[in-house]
Amino acid sequence: MASAKMKRKKFFRTISGKVRVGQQVKKTKKRTCILCKKQLHGVPHGKSKAMLAAMSKTEKRPSAIFGGKLCSRCRRKVIDEAIMVKQNSKNIQNVDLSLKKFVNQTMKKMK
Ligand SMILES: [Zn+2]
Repeated sequence: MASAKMKRKKFFRTISGKVRVGQQVKKTKKRTCILCKKQLHGVPHGKSKAMLAAMSKTEKRPSAIFGGKLCSRCRRKVIDEAIMVKQNSKNIQNVDLSLKKFVNQTMKKMK
């Protein structure tokens, strides 16, 4: 039975006609937004883990706040909520539970 940890097998034919089994290197998947599962831009995909390790930090994710975690729409929503809480026009208890963690992190950074 194939487990998730097993590497993918790739069959290829040698010049002499024999079939050999090779191991295919796993590729990284497309990253999605944590909140809305939309596909993220500016994030590498379809590369091996070794290639990712060789890349620089700024090549791996956008430098914006929550870059590589949230899409731009969700990021804007979180920042808007954080500003409303900061200006006392909204109570932190009324913030959506899924956004609360990010709102708290944004509040810390806004000092
Ligand atoms: Zn999103």
